[in-house]
Amino acid sequence: MKILVINSGSSSIKFQLLDMQDESVLASGLVERIGEAEGLIKCTLRPGTNRETTTKNICAVPDHTTGMRLAVDLLTDKEQGVIADRSEIAAVGHRVVHGGEDFHRPTVIDAEVMAAIEKNIPLAPLHNPANIDGIRVAQELFAGVPQVAVFDTAFHQTIPPHAYHYAIPYELYEKERIRRYGFHGTSHKFVASECAKLMGRELATFNVITIHLGNGCSMTAVENGKSVDTSLGFTPLEGLVMGTRSGDVDPAIHAFLARNCNLDIEAIDRLLNKESGLKGLCGMNDMRDIHTAIAAGNERAKLALEVQTYRNRKYIGAFMAVLGRVDAIVFTAGIGENDEVVREKSLAGLAPFGIVLDRKANSQRIKQPTLLSSPESLVQIWGIPTNEELAIARETKGVIEKD
Ligand code: AMP
Repeated sequence: MKILVINSGSSSIKFQLLDMQDESVLASGLVERIGEAEGLIKCTLRPGTNRETTTKNICAVPDHTTGMRLAVDLLTDKEQGVIADRSEIAAVGHRVVHGGEDFHRPTVIDAEVMAAIEKNIPLAPLHNPANIDGIRVAQELFAGVPQVAVFDTAFHQTIPPHAYHYAIPYELYEKERIRRYGFHGTSHKFVASECAKLMGRELATFNVITIHLGNGCSMTAVENGKSVDTSLGFTPLEGLVMGTRSGDVDPAIHAFLARNCNLDIEAIDRLLNKESGLKGLCGMNDMRDIHTAIAAGNERAKLALEVQTYRNRKYIGAFMAVLGRVDAIVFTAGIGENDEVVREKSLAGLAPFGIVLDRKANSQRIKQPTLLSSPESLVQIWGIPTNEELAIARETKGVIEKD
């Protein structure tokens, strides 16, 4: 069974074609700068094999339909292609950012589902319209093929009311649906279930804290296989310190900035989403640059690292209190997989809670699932590479097999 995974953004489409028989990647690519004068399409066919080929074309990509057509042409190319015909694709899995309270699980897309995704546009005004574009194009190009929406928010729909409500007037929840939703759900679910498998445990009785540290960062408390709390909230701004996003701030800072710094709502939104986090503290948002700067004696870079890892530790403590029993802690995504210093600092001083890193095991970049805790650690610590495309493909397969 071959499944095409599509992650459609406002000016880009990421795609991956997987053969679910052995979960191998047949092709992986990206269409960028859609709508600009010059678009770019990059595609690697048969990655990791001795027949791997990468093409890069610069051409006009006026819209998503053209972008997806160009991608399909590469997949079905007579000489190089990985499938003879698009009819070989059994299903298309779409990443959809916001499912609001309507979607608790991946869902086959029909008119009703499309309407519900559209209804949730106010909750994700930048992302859901682009995701909808991707779905429309795929429906047109792969008529009759099941299209499945895999929501970033769905895994977190098991979070109980005491954790998802903000203590603000209840009417704002009823009228505006303001509550905590959480994001990165596909990644948290994927590494939680991989970790349970690696430890020989049933997910249904497994408690784990999953820590996704990339350009966006979030942490999830998973109890008996279900998300019971997560650090991102109504939008992907709350919680941990991210590349350019502030994470938790006193909400009164907004009013202060408006009154005293003459900033309007748009400027405040931009400041907290694009000019804060690691970048706000030290001018750099890539952890590799921050380490280089620290080595050169840059104090602000040191501060940024300290602020981020302290916040991580604080949330780990909070989620330990939420869960009571913690079987494992998992690090994933760009920083979580590659940065031993961030992992070590995020867990510093937690030995009295039974959390002990193995320094040697930790001193590596994670290319495959790796146990990072020492044998005496009561809580196992893992580094597990996240794989959003595979996770979406598995979810898609699961849904169409059930249908
Ligand atoms: P992601 O959003 O998961 O793609 O993660 C991207 C982030 O991971 C980058 O902004 C970097 O901060 C971080 N990153 C990637 N590679 C490394 C590395 N080798 N060491 C430290 N951080 C890294």
